[in-house]
Amino acid sequence: MELAQQYGTPLYVMSEDEIRRVCRSYAGSFQEFYGGHGRPIYASKAFCCKEICRIVASEGLDIEVVSGGELYTALEAGVPGENIHFQGNNKTLQELQFALDSNVGDIVVDNLSELHALDRLAGTSNKTAKISLRIKPGIDAHTHEFIRTGQIDSKFGLDLASGEAFAAAKESRDLQNVKLIGLHCHIGSQIMEKEPFIHAAEVMLELYCQVTEEVGQELEHINLGGGFGIHYTEKDDFIPYNAYMEAVSQKLHALCKEKGIRLPKIFIEPGRSVVGEAGITLYTVGNIKKIPQVRNYVSIDGGMFENPRYALYQSDYTCLIANKANQPANYVATIAGKCCESGDLIQEHTNIQSPEEGDILAVLSTGAYNYSMASNYNRNLRPACVMVHKGESRVIIKGETYQDLLRNDV
Ligand SMILES: *Cc1c(COP(=O)(O)O)cnc(C)c1O
Repeated sequence: MELAQQYGTPLYVMSEDEIRRVCRSYAGSFQEFYGGHGRPIYASKAFCCKEICRIVASEGLDIEVVSGGELYTALEAGVPGENIHFQGNNKTLQELQFALDSNVGDIVVDNLSELHALDRLAGTSNKTAKISLRIKPGIDAHTHEFIRTGQIDSKFGLDLASGEAFAAAKESRDLQNVKLIGLHCHIGSQIMEKEPFIHAAEVMLELYCQVTEEVGQELEHINLGGGFGIHYTEKDDFIPYNAYMEAVSQKLHALCKEKGIRLPKIFIEPGRSVVGEAGITLYTVGNIKKIPQVRNYVSIDGGMFENPRYALYQSDYTCLIANKANQPANYVATIAGKCCESGDLIQEHTNIQSPEEGDILAVLSTGAYNYSMASNYNRNLRPACVMVHKGESRVIIKGETYQDLLRNDV
């Protein structure tokens, strides 16, 4: 309530302690299960801004980026290129050049055409690009189809089953200006089970051995991607991250022993789970439309322009009236945004406290894929983001102004 009053609404609020807690728990499990042989990487697309890059990097995580813009942000936050991993299924030549110029430590190559382009650009720049290969391991994680990425029918990566991935490893060995150092996969997002991760680890270690033996290329790491689920509502079954880490580590250690090889460095790449539960969004309730026998629309001063996730994939959220949080939540509401789209909803048929105009509505677990997916649709302004820490708050992203909207208008 204080923050809403001080900064106005809509407002993104992030907790620094919570972000640091999650980073430490990932870093700690790398110590525990891999003896520090490997590390977590923050997939910055979940929430990319300078301050969050700085916080995460200060906890010892590397940063993963998927565009020139994210790369620029991480560099401007002071993250060394060496600690940056550059992903993306269709990086432009300009982005590849930017990565080379910034000495990015790990360019994750998605396809053969990119492999050749990067080799040419690196040659012209007199550099050797350190690369990984993005592999499609053929694993179907049980999650929403728009956020599933590891199956054969995916726009991401090199196919394993057809031998495309293996052929790319061979080719990179023979190219002059790239050095293959790792293999990467990412099977999806908001995954709530251990099994797909264990399966992916198995498949990737198999390929790692095949590349080492048959291609004769020494690799340094396997990156198992992100995708760890978080709590949006009570329905989301909690699996502590340590449990994934332990199960995957046991599998990998057992396989390495069986094959008589040293365990490669292991990377994981969480995004959502680093920042998701650290964020809430605050709104002011506007008009309320009760349509008898249909639903109750509770309008807010935000919407799909600052949180498009319900409109995109019907994501669940927990909502509450902040100034009535201790009252029973027995009012069934559809939370509607202010954009000119009927689908501009934040949640449908969700239980909140009895709302009145002027109340402050809080939506929980909005730290990931909210600000980073925000737009200026209807020329709405992207809200400010404040970071709270030890009872203090500070603005980490200023709210936009009307002048910002016109900055590039001619
Ligand atoms: C999005 C993405 C991640 C992070 O996924 P989360 O579900 O947010 O943990 C990691 N790696 C790659 C390649 C991604 O595209």
